[in-house]
Amino acid sequence: MREIHESICGNHSRARVLQKKIVRAGYYWPSMQADANRFVQHCDKCQRFANLLHSPPEVLVPMTAPWPFVQWGLDIMGPFPIGRRQLKFLVVAIDYFTKWVEAEPLATITEKNIQSFVWKAVICKFGIPRVLVSDNGKQFDNPRFRQFSQELGIHNHYSSPGHPKATDKSSQDTNRRNTISNDVWKRIEIGLTTLRTSTYDDQQNEEQLRLNLDLIDEVRETTEARMKRYQEKMARHYNSKVKPRQLSVGDLVLRRVTLATRNPSEGKLGPNWEGPYKVIEIRRPGTYHLEDMSGRRLPHPWNAEHLRRYYP
Ligand SMILES: [Zn+2]
Repeated sequence: MREIHESICGNHSRARVLQKKIVRAGYYWPSMQADANRFVQHCDKCQRFANLLHSPPEVLVPMTAPWPFVQWGLDIMGPFPIGRRQLKFLVVAIDYFTKWVEAEPLATITEKNIQSFVWKAVICKFGIPRVLVSDNGKQFDNPRFRQFSQELGIHNHYSSPGHPKATDKSSQDTNRRNTISNDVWKRIEIGLTTLRTSTYDDQQNEEQLRLNLDLIDEVRETTEARMKRYQEKMARHYNSKVKPRQLSVGDLVLRRVTLATRNPSEGKLGPNWEGPYKVIEIRRPGTYHLEDMSGRRLPHPWNAEHLRRYYP
Protein backbone atom coordinates (compact mmCIF):
# COMPACT_ATOMS: atom_id res chain seq x y z
CA MET A 1 0.00 0.00 0.00
CA ARG A 2 2.82 2.40 0.89
CA GLU A 3 4.52 1.50 -2.38
CA ILE A 4 1.42 2.34 -4.40
CA HIS A 5 0.60 5.54 -2.54
CA GLU A 6 3.92 7.33 -2.13
CA SER A 7 6.84 5.57 -3.80
CA ILE A 8 8.32 6.39 -7.18
CA CYS A 9 5.22 5.59 -9.20
CA GLY A 10 2.78 6.71 -6.53
CA ASN A 11 1.02 10.02 -6.88
CA HIS A 12 -0.49 10.41 -3.40
CA SER A 13 -3.90 9.48 -4.71
CA ARG A 14 -7.04 9.63 -2.61
CA ALA A 15 -8.35 6.56 -0.79
CA ARG A 16 -10.80 5.49 -3.49
CA VAL A 17 -8.15 5.48 -6.21
CA LEU A 18 -5.70 3.75 -3.89
CA GLN A 19 -8.19 0.93 -3.34
CA LYS A 20 -8.65 0.54 -7.07
CA LYS A 21 -4.91 0.41 -7.65
CA ILE A 22 -4.38 -2.19 -4.95
CA VAL A 23 -7.02 -4.41 -6.50
CA ARG A 24 -5.51 -3.91 -9.96
CA ALA A 25 -2.10 -4.85 -8.59
CA GLY A 26 -3.64 -8.18 -7.64
CA TYR A 27 -4.07 -7.85 -3.88
CA TYR A 28 -7.11 -8.29 -1.75
CA TRP A 29 -7.74 -8.43 1.99
CA PRO A 30 -10.97 -8.02 3.94
CA SER A 31 -10.32 -4.68 5.64
CA MET A 32 -8.84 -3.11 2.54
CA GLN A 33 -11.19 -0.13 2.29
CA ALA A 34 -10.78 0.93 5.91
CA ASP A 35 -6.99 0.46 5.74
CA ALA A 36 -6.68 2.58 2.62
CA ASN A 37 -8.84 5.31 4.13
CA ARG A 38 -6.73 5.39 7.26
CA PHE A 39 -3.46 5.30 5.34
CA VAL A 40 -4.38 8.30 3.23
CA GLN A 41 -5.77 10.20 6.21
CA HIS A 42 -2.48 9.79 8.07
CA CYS A 43 -0.10 10.48 5.16
CA ASP A 44 2.02 13.50 6.16
CA LYS A 45 2.43 14.93 2.67
CA CYS A 46 -1.22 14.53 1.78
CA GLN A 47 -2.14 16.52 4.87
CA ARG A 48 0.35 19.32 4.26
CA PHE A 49 -0.70 19.77 0.65
CA ALA A 50 -4.41 19.33 1.31
CA ASN A 51 -6.79 21.87 -0.16
CA LEU A 52 -7.66 24.92 1.83
CA LEU A 53 -10.96 24.61 3.65
CA HIS A 54 -13.57 27.13 2.69
CA SER A 55 -16.56 25.98 4.69
CA PRO A 56 -16.80 27.92 7.93
CA PRO A 57 -15.94 25.88 11.03
CA GLU A 58 -18.09 27.68 13.59
CA VAL A 59 -21.36 29.54 13.71
CA LEU A 60 -21.14 33.26 13.08
CA VAL A 61 -21.04 35.62 16.03
CA PRO A 62 -22.33 38.93 14.77
CA MET A 63 -20.70 41.90 16.42
CA THR A 64 -22.29 45.27 16.79
CA ALA A 65 -20.68 48.37 18.10
CA PRO A 66 -23.20 50.40 20.07
CA TRP A 67 -21.81 53.78 19.07
CA PRO A 68 -19.99 55.25 16.10
CA PHE A 69 -16.20 55.40 16.13
CA VAL A 70 -15.54 53.47 19.34
CA GLN A 71 -14.45 50.22 17.73
CA TRP A 72 -12.22 50.01 14.69
CA GLY A 73 -10.94 47.04 12.75
CA LEU A 74 -7.39 47.31 11.40
CA ASP A 75 -5.93 45.34 8.54
CA ILE A 76 -3.17 45.33 5.97
CA MET A 77 -3.91 44.70 2.31
CA GLY A 78 -1.48 43.89 -0.41
CA PRO A 79 1.09 43.66 -1.84
CA PHE A 80 -0.42 45.43 -4.82
CA PRO A 81 1.39 46.44 -8.03
CA ILE A 82 4.03 48.97 -7.02
CA GLY A 83 2.91 52.56 -7.46
CA ARG A 84 4.59 55.90 -7.09
CA ARG A 85 7.11 56.22 -4.25
CA GLN A 86 7.27 52.41 -3.99
CA LEU A 87 3.81 52.32 -2.44
CA LYS A 88 2.46 48.79 -2.50
CA PHE A 89 0.60 48.11 0.74
CA LEU A 90 -2.60 49.52 2.11
CA VAL A 91 -3.40 49.89 5.78
CA VAL A 92 -7.11 50.05 6.36
CA ALA A 93 -9.25 50.93 9.36
CA ILE A 94 -12.99 50.26 9.40
CA ASP A 95 -15.37 51.59 12.03
CA TYR A 96 -17.66 48.81 13.20
CA PHE A 97 -20.71 51.01 13.57
CA THR A 98 -20.78 53.19 10.48
CA LYS A 99 -18.48 51.02 8.37
CA TRP A 100 -16.54 54.17 7.60
CA VAL A 101 -13.24 53.37 5.98
CA GLU A 102 -9.91 55.13 6.44
CA ALA A 103 -6.96 53.94 4.40
CA GLU A 104 -3.42 54.93 3.58
CA PRO A 105 -0.95 53.52 1.08
CA LEU A 106 2.43 52.46 2.45
CA ALA A 107 5.73 51.45 0.95
CA THR A 108 6.70 49.31 3.91
CA ILE A 109 4.79 47.97 6.86
CA THR A 110 6.62 49.18 9.92
CA GLU A 111 5.44 49.60 13.47
CA LYS A 112 6.05 53.31 13.16
CA ASN A 113 4.00 53.64 9.98
CA ILE A 114 1.05 51.79 11.46
CA GLN A 115 1.17 53.80 14.63
CA SER A 116 1.22 57.12 12.81
CA PHE A 117 -1.66 55.95 10.61
CA VAL A 118 -3.77 55.16 13.67
CA TRP A 119 -2.84 58.49 15.16
CA LYS A 120 -3.50 60.58 12.06
CA ALA A 121 -6.42 58.80 10.41
CA VAL A 122 -8.31 57.50 13.43
CA ILE A 123 -7.50 59.41 16.58
CA CYS A 124 -7.00 62.90 15.18
CA LYS A 125 -10.14 62.67 13.05
CA PHE A 126 -12.56 60.67 15.19
CA GLY A 127 -11.25 60.77 18.73
CA ILE A 128 -9.78 58.03 20.85
CA PRO A 129 -11.53 54.71 20.21
CA ARG A 130 -12.23 52.18 22.93
CA VAL A 131 -11.26 49.04 21.03
CA LEU A 132 -8.99 48.26 18.10
CA VAL A 133 -9.52 44.85 16.50
CA SER A 134 -6.70 43.46 14.39
CA ASP A 135 -5.21 40.17 13.33
CA ASN A 136 -2.18 38.52 14.86
CA GLY A 137 0.31 40.27 12.61
CA LYS A 138 3.55 41.58 14.07
CA GLN A 139 2.73 45.05 12.77
CA PHE A 140 -0.23 45.37 15.15
CA ASP A 141 1.17 43.38 18.02
CA ASN A 142 4.48 44.72 19.24
CA PRO A 143 5.59 46.44 22.44
CA ARG A 144 5.58 49.83 20.80
CA PHE A 145 2.01 49.61 19.54
CA ARG A 146 0.80 48.09 22.81
CA GLN A 147 2.33 50.89 24.81
CA PHE A 148 0.92 53.48 22.45
CA SER A 149 -2.59 52.01 22.90
CA GLN A 150 -2.20 51.62 26.60
CA GLU A 151 -1.21 55.22 27.13
CA LEU A 152 -4.39 56.29 25.38
CA GLY A 153 -6.55 53.72 27.16
CA ILE A 154 -7.34 51.76 23.98
CA HIS A 155 -7.99 48.04 24.29
CA ASN A 156 -6.37 45.84 21.66
CA HIS A 157 -8.24 42.74 20.51
CA TYR A 158 -6.27 40.28 18.42
CA SER A 159 -7.15 37.32 16.21
CA SER A 160 -10.32 38.91 14.78
CA PRO A 161 -12.57 36.73 16.96
CA GLY A 162 -15.91 37.68 15.48
CA HIS A 163 -14.99 37.81 11.78
CA PRO A 164 -15.09 41.52 11.08
CA LYS A 165 -14.98 40.55 7.47
CA ALA A 166 -18.25 38.69 7.84
CA THR A 167 -20.05 41.65 9.31
CA ASP A 168 -21.14 42.96 5.98
CA LYS A 169 -18.84 44.56 3.50
CA SER A 170 -21.67 45.60 1.23
CA SER A 171 -22.96 48.38 3.44
CA GLN A 172 -19.53 50.01 3.41
CA ASP A 173 -19.99 50.60 -0.26
CA THR A 174 -23.49 51.92 0.07
CA ASN A 175 -22.41 54.28 2.81
CA ARG A 176 -19.57 55.62 0.81
CA ARG A 177 -21.70 55.97 -2.28
CA ASN A 178 -24.32 57.94 -0.36
CA THR A 179 -21.77 60.39 0.96
CA ILE A 180 -20.31 60.95 -2.46
CA SER A 181 -23.60 61.46 -4.24
CA ASN A 182 -24.95 63.83 -1.59
CA ASP A 183 -21.87 65.91 -1.96
CA VAL A 184 -22.21 66.09 -5.71
CA TRP A 185 -25.88 67.05 -5.45
CA LYS A 186 -25.15 69.88 -3.08
CA ARG A 187 -22.62 71.36 -5.44
CA ILE A 188 -24.96 71.20 -8.38
CA GLU A 189 -27.79 72.84 -6.47
CA ILE A 190 -25.70 75.81 -5.46
CA GLY A 191 -25.03 76.63 -9.09
CA LEU A 192 -28.53 75.93 -10.45
CA THR A 193 -31.63 77.07 -8.63
CA THR A 194 -33.85 74.18 -7.68
CA LEU A 195 -36.94 73.90 -5.54
CA ARG A 196 -34.78 72.97 -2.61
CA THR A 197 -32.70 76.15 -2.71
CA SER A 198 -35.32 78.64 -3.93
CA THR A 199 -37.95 77.87 -1.26
CA TYR A 200 -35.41 77.65 1.52
CA ASP A 201 -36.49 79.36 4.75
CA ASP A 202 -33.81 79.59 7.35
CA GLN A 203 -36.04 79.66 10.41
CA GLN A 204 -38.38 76.94 9.27
CA ASN A 205 -35.46 74.76 8.42
CA GLU A 206 -34.00 75.27 11.86
CA GLU A 207 -37.32 74.32 13.48
CA GLN A 208 -37.58 71.17 11.42
CA LEU A 209 -34.05 70.19 12.31
CA ARG A 210 -34.83 70.65 16.00
CA LEU A 211 -37.91 68.49 15.62
CA ASN A 212 -35.72 65.84 14.03
CA LEU A 213 -33.49 65.92 17.06
CA ASP A 214 -36.47 65.50 19.40
CA LEU A 215 -37.59 62.45 17.49
CA ILE A 216 -34.18 60.89 17.17
CA ASP A 217 -34.69 58.23 19.83
CA GLU A 218 -37.32 56.47 17.80
CA VAL A 219 -35.18 56.57 14.69
CA ARG A 220 -32.31 55.09 16.63
CA GLU A 221 -34.49 52.28 17.96
CA THR A 222 -35.91 51.33 14.59
CA THR A 223 -32.43 51.34 13.09
CA GLU A 224 -31.17 49.08 15.83
CA ALA A 225 -34.06 46.68 15.33
CA ARG A 226 -33.47 46.65 11.59
CA MET A 227 -29.79 45.98 12.06
CA LYS A 228 -30.54 43.09 14.44
CA ARG A 229 -32.96 41.56 11.93
CA TYR A 230 -30.44 41.92 9.16
CA GLN A 231 -27.67 40.33 11.19
CA GLU A 232 -29.90 37.44 12.19
CA LYS A 233 -30.73 36.81 8.57
CA MET A 234 -27.07 36.95 7.61
CA ALA A 235 -26.10 34.63 10.46
CA ARG A 236 -28.76 32.13 9.40
CA HIS A 237 -27.44 32.08 5.87
CA TYR A 238 -23.85 31.72 7.06
CA ASN A 239 -24.67 29.05 9.62
CA SER A 240 -26.41 26.92 7.04
CA LYS A 241 -23.00 26.39 5.45
CA VAL A 242 -21.12 25.61 8.65
CA LYS A 243 -19.37 22.28 8.90
CA PRO A 244 -18.33 22.00 12.54
CA ARG A 245 -14.63 21.33 13.06
CA GLN A 246 -14.37 21.00 16.80
CA LEU A 247 -10.91 20.56 18.30
CA SER A 248 -10.15 19.55 21.86
CA VAL A 249 -7.14 20.04 24.11
CA GLY A 250 -4.28 17.75 23.10
CA ASP A 251 -5.28 17.50 19.44
CA LEU A 252 -2.59 18.02 16.84
CA VAL A 253 -3.33 20.57 14.17
CA LEU A 254 -1.75 22.07 11.06
CA ARG A 255 -1.83 25.80 10.54
CA ARG A 256 -2.66 27.40 7.22
CA VAL A 257 0.37 28.81 5.43
CA THR A 258 -0.25 32.51 4.95
CA LEU A 259 1.60 35.12 2.95
CA ALA A 260 3.78 35.90 5.94
CA THR A 261 4.67 32.31 6.80
CA ARG A 262 5.10 31.01 3.26
CA ASN A 263 8.62 30.09 2.32
CA PRO A 264 9.32 32.37 -0.65
CA SER A 265 11.43 29.77 -2.42
CA GLU A 266 8.45 27.41 -2.57
CA GLY A 267 6.12 29.85 -4.26
CA LYS A 268 2.62 28.89 -5.18
CA LEU A 269 3.25 25.15 -5.28
CA GLY A 270 4.52 24.91 -1.72
CA PRO A 271 2.52 23.22 1.00
CA ASN A 272 -0.71 24.84 2.12
CA TRP A 273 -0.35 23.75 5.74
CA GLU A 274 2.48 23.84 8.26
CA GLY A 275 3.00 22.36 11.65
CA PRO A 276 2.01 20.30 13.50
CA TYR A 277 1.00 22.23 16.59
CA LYS A 278 -0.76 21.03 19.69
CA VAL A 279 -3.95 22.56 21.09
CA ILE A 280 -3.32 23.48 24.71
CA GLU A 281 -6.25 25.67 25.62
CA ILE A 282 -9.67 26.53 24.26
CA ARG A 283 -10.21 30.26 24.60
CA ARG A 284 -13.81 30.11 23.41
CA PRO A 285 -15.39 27.83 20.82
CA GLY A 286 -13.44 28.25 17.60
CA THR A 287 -10.43 30.01 19.12
CA TYR A 288 -7.48 28.00 20.37
CA HIS A 289 -4.12 28.48 22.04
CA LEU A 290 -1.37 26.39 20.45
CA GLU A 291 2.15 25.25 21.21
CA ASP A 292 4.72 23.95 18.76
CA MET A 293 6.31 20.53 19.03
CA SER A 294 9.14 21.78 21.24
CA GLY A 295 6.56 22.94 23.78
CA ARG A 296 6.84 26.65 23.08
CA ARG A 297 3.48 28.40 23.42
CA LEU A 298 2.46 30.55 20.45
CA PRO A 299 1.80 34.13 21.51
CA HIS A 300 -1.80 34.39 20.26
CA PRO A 301 -5.00 32.44 20.07
CA TRP A 302 -5.74 31.07 16.61
CA ASN A 303 -9.03 30.84 14.85
CA ALA A 304 -10.39 27.43 13.78
CA GLU A 305 -10.70 28.86 10.31
CA HIS A 306 -6.91 28.62 9.90
CA LEU A 307 -6.47 25.19 11.47
CA ARG A 308 -6.96 21.63 10.36
CA ARG A 309 -6.72 18.41 12.32
CA TYR A 310 -3.41 16.53 11.88
CA TYR A 311 -3.12 12.74 11.99
CA PRO A 312 0.43 11.61 12.81
ZN1 LIG B 1 0.05 10.89 0.54
